[in-house]
Amino acid sequence: MSTVADKQATTALCEAVIQGLRSCLPDTKEQVQLHSPSFEGNEWKYVKECLDTGWVSSVGKYVDRFEKELASFVGSKFCVAAVNGTAALHIALLLADVKSGDEVIIPDLTFIATANSVTYANAIPHLADASQKTLGLDPKKLSAWLEEIAEVKSDGTINRKTGRRIGAMVVMHTFGHPSELDELLEISNRFKIPLIEDAAESIGSYYKGVHTGRFGRLATLSFNGNKTITTGGGGAILTDDADLARVAKHITTTAKVPHQWKFKHDRTGFNYRLPNINAALGCAQLEQLETFLTRKRALSERYKKIFAGLNDVTFFEEPANCKSNYWLNALVLKDTSGTLLEELLAATNAQGIQTRPAWDLMHTLPMFADCPKMPTETAEKLAASILCIPSSPSL
Ligand SMILES: *Cc1c(COP(=O)(O)O)cnc(C)c1O
Repeated sequence: MSTVADKQATTALCEAVIQGLRSCLPDTKEQVQLHSPSFEGNEWKYVKECLDTGWVSSVGKYVDRFEKELASFVGSKFCVAAVNGTAALHIALLLADVKSGDEVIIPDLTFIATANSVTYANAIPHLADASQKTLGLDPKKLSAWLEEIAEVKSDGTINRKTGRRIGAMVVMHTFGHPSELDELLEISNRFKIPLIEDAAESIGSYYKGVHTGRFGRLATLSFNGNKTITTGGGGAILTDDADLARVAKHITTTAKVPHQWKFKHDRTGFNYRLPNINAALGCAQLEQLETFLTRKRALSERYKKIFAGLNDVTFFEEPANCKSNYWLNALVLKDTSGTLLEELLAATNAQGIQTRPAWDLMHTLPMFADCPKMPTETAEKLAASILCIPSSPSL
């Protein structure tokens, strides 16, 4: 093996990728961010109204409006806004009846919030492998794994290896690309493990024509500053179940029982409500969501064309039968050693083009190192070969 030739090939590929990115991105001296928010509509107006009227916090019309408009966009019956996506997931797990000491199946390849929310519910993440096709949970591998370890009993499904109950499975739609929901729902039904969708990244993404977040018993969204639309910080719980929605509202608002002047609380709740000022921002952002989605799709088309010409790199495209929001555009490298990825990260960031890898796998982090898991080779390969490239709606 010639290391000199390898080095030359790496340098040439880095140059080709940078050239490809440049041809799709604006010509600017400033750093091109991975994903920065766009405020081009009524954001100033709605936020100013909150300040002018004093309704900045826990009461005000924008929270209700944001919830109604979100539910209508997604097609959900109910929507409860929350202070962020992690808090929304925490509540979704509790509402799915995840109990202290349960295991919850989550992808090994995900953002830390998915795993942290399981810990908040006093449960234990059980890590599952990713699919090369969707970047989400691999249903074939998950099914085979559960056949091996799971025992369906009348009072729940038990992991035979640990003796613990498997309380839920969380499906995450990576970078806005829908997971294989039909197959995963079938597994959820067969093994009697409730399915929750972490749809934090997938507002505006559809699986077989239906919006993501419509498949699980509960689903959650995030409106963090780097998401497709933002409320500064924020999240939401989606469900079609009126009782679950009512409890979600109750426990995210300190479990306060309505009374004209008394502070009455009937259980331990959480201060997880979304402030009115954040919801105001969200209402303005929602008005522009279709525009953002159209622009993001146009950018992904440019990337797709440009990178079709390169051999060692593929542009990750939406899975079959899906319409993705292309929240984060991603290149997948043929080299899965991680060496080329490191070179590309260094080269692009040095050139003022912000790129990032996917996340470190959950099982590599100290707090989740001992979690139960299936073999996760595909997730390992993906973590070493995914390069996220600039995706802001302003591009
Ligand atoms: C953004 C995100 C969340 C929620 O994050 P918050 O910052 O708490 O809103 C959850 N899961 C995934 C996969 C995410 O990308």
